[in-house]
Amino acid sequence: MENHPKITVVGSINMDLVTLTDKLPEMGETITGKQFKMNPGGKGANQAVAAARLGAQVKIIGCVGRDSFGENLLQHLQSEGIDVSNVEPVTDSTGTALITVYNNDNNIIVVPGANNHVTASFVETKRDIIADSDILILQLEIPLEGVQKAVEVAKENNVTVILNPAPITELPAGLIEQIDYLTPNEHEHSLLIKGMNEQQIKEKVIVTKGSRGVSLYKGDEEITIPSFRVNAIDTTGAGDSFNGGLAVALGRGLSLPDACKFGNAAAALSTLKLGAQTGMPGKEEVETMIK
Ligand code: ATP
Repeated sequence: MENHPKITVVGSINMDLVTLTDKLPEMGETITGKQFKMNPGGKGANQAVAAARLGAQVKIIGCVGRDSFGENLLQHLQSEGIDVSNVEPVTDSTGTALITVYNNDNNIIVVPGANNHVTASFVETKRDIIADSDILILQLEIPLEGVQKAVEVAKENNVTVILNPAPITELPAGLIEQIDYLTPNEHEHSLLIKGMNEQQIKEKVIVTKGSRGVSLYKGDEEITIPSFRVNAIDTTGAGDSFNGGLAVALGRGLSLPDACKFGNAAAALSTLKLGAQTGMPGKEEVETMIK
């Protein structure tokens, strides 16, 4: 069993600009918020940090702008032990996400900027990195052609692929066929399965259901892997923690239900602090929780 699986993330790297508020403004209204914080984010970077904290050898493939957010984010990812030598600086703004946290939930506006440069031809230049991985994790905050190329290279090299289909968009049938696991939340799930047949849904889909955990198929039977009970403060990035945890556990050779339990524990712990990455736990914390 591989204790430190090789995980590659192809995806977004953003600065999250987070506002905590007691009420939401109406259109045209200005209100006073409670707190503001800048946090490293982007689903790709979040997934990379989640996996790295859980003990994986993580490489991230992506783009940042030649600006202070980009510099800070690269330094930050490096400080998490992530290999950033395949993140290229481009002439565009580093990705940003404007996040409003309200009533234990959030809404988000993402401006992709440099993440839009993760094209198929860019990913092609990183072929060897993907080929040398145990697991590839993806989301949809980069161009779909970049995702398609990464999946194609992974499949040519027998690398397991996890795609978190967020933000949801219509996926080509050929792409779905090549992916091992899709991890939509409930909203994404209802749109995703319109493009899937029953067998694909049963074999590939793991639905994350917030505080209710995840559901998946074991043969023809739908099963639920319950979440862990916590007093969630900020669920931003809970899905990314789940995906990082799932990838690490699968890379270690755990069964799919056990890997989901591991992912649930990582995700639950991640909700205990404000910010997508701040609360992401280490391996020992997760192992204590699932005992
Ligand atoms: P996000 O977009 O905020 O990262 P998401 O909508 O993709 O999240 P969710 O289904 O809300 O994903 O949550 C992902 C996983 O996180 C859940 O399956 C569960 O394991 C864990 N989780 C989320 N909220 C809670 C909670 N309140 N208590 C315990 N676990 C939670």
